[in-house]
Amino acid sequence: MVRKVSILGATGSIGQNTIDLIARAPDSYDVVALTGASNIAQLAKDAIALRADVAVTAHDHLLDELRAALAGSDVQAAAGTAAVTEAASRPADWTMSAIVGAAGLAPGIAALEQGGTLALANKESLVCAGQLVLETARQNNSRILPVDSEHSAIFQALIGEEMSAVERIIITASGGAFRDWPIEDLAHATLDQASSHPNWAMGQRITVDSASMFNKAMEIIETHEFFDVTPDQIEVLVHPQSMIHALVGFNDGALMAHVGPPDMRHAIGFALHHPQRQPLPVERLDLAAIGQFEFRAPDARRWPALRLARETMQYGGMMGAVFNAAKESALDGFIAGQIGFTQMADVVEDTLSHMNDAGGPVHAAMTLDNVLQVDHLARKAAQAVIRKRAG
Ligand code: NDP
Ligand code: MG
Repeated sequence: MVRKVSILGATGSIGQNTIDLIARAPDSYDVVALTGASNIAQLAKDAIALRADVAVTAHDHLLDELRAALAGSDVQAAAGTAAVTEAASRPADWTMSAIVGAAGLAPGIAALEQGGTLALANKESLVCAGQLVLETARQNNSRILPVDSEHSAIFQALIGEEMSAVERIIITASGGAFRDWPIEDLAHATLDQASSHPNWAMGQRITVDSASMFNKAMEIIETHEFFDVTPDQIEVLVHPQSMIHALVGFNDGALMAHVGPPDMRHAIGFALHHPQRQPLPVERLDLAAIGQFEFRAPDARRWPALRLARETMQYGGMMGAVFNAAKESALDGFIAGQIGFTQMADVVEDTLSHMNDAGGPVHAAMTLDNVLQVDHLARKAAQAVIRKRAG
């Protein structure tokens, strides 16, 4: 059976890994939409090769460039954030949500509204608007399959199990670039240093978020939203090898671990073929050659992001959207050289308390408009904090 598929964020790291799998079986897929932002050459090349119906860049001003790159093909060109969401709303059996940041929320919701399965890499959607995303899926009879490696691992460990028997969920973290750095050196860590991950090849933003543990902080909230477990049932475990992706602990003391190489094509392929398993082009682990797995408790002083995630869940309301927006702004500030590495957590902490003290919007009903409004306000608040700290 040929399945209609769309890839949101096709030009990114997850998008390219998704295309790698789809391109291996071109007769099995009918590609509807590919979306990207700045990387027009890649977007056009893949859209032509996969014979997509439409290729969309999120940037209005790149429409002519995209049109030129698609010239002579049958692929339609479109541009702008509304066009990305329109493309996501076109009927598809399976959609990969792999835009980075809160920009992935509206297109992901549009994909859920048209039905089909949403393979969700964009964890920001669940952090910003978990309830709304899950409710949209319920109302439209669409399905969400997690693609974040930890959440795919949890999902797989839960197959055939009752949630009532789950005591705890342990998500592992490599510890990122600065796992073994002296804590006092972190304040002077550079963007280059933060952008190299020991195990995973990923987009730059998530790589820096791995070094700061903001990625794991987001994943705690993602776990809480998606699997409906309480914050105190979720633990983080530092595991430098990144081969055990998550563990589920049951009421009889059993721990079910998911073990695999650090290759996102496993989680993407699992979501692509679910409910079947299909052969995937990932390395088979030789555990005897690896010899040892290590584990450590995360150091709260090194990684304050983990505490901030728990405070965010305690605040409730739409504080998840504040957390994400503040984190994205802080990351922008670090990338732009406005603030240092350790100041990212300070910016998020100050923005959370400012927005919580302000009350109002963060406790309104969770609609898409309200989430986007909170996102906007939180970015403004974070900018103000950054200016104060930078100046
Ligand atoms: P990348 O930065 O590699 O790719 C991001 C994608 O989003 C690109 O296609 C980019 O386009 C597009 N994009 C950027 N800004 C916008 C915007 N404003 N509107 C629409 N599209 C935009 O990110 P990753 O692939 O690493 O991550 C994607 C998502 O998956 C994130 O949510 C991340 O947290 C999650 N994830 C990633 C993992 C990984 O291994 N990389 C692992 C687990 C989760 P362009 O490049 O053309 O500018
Ligand atoms: Mg992950």
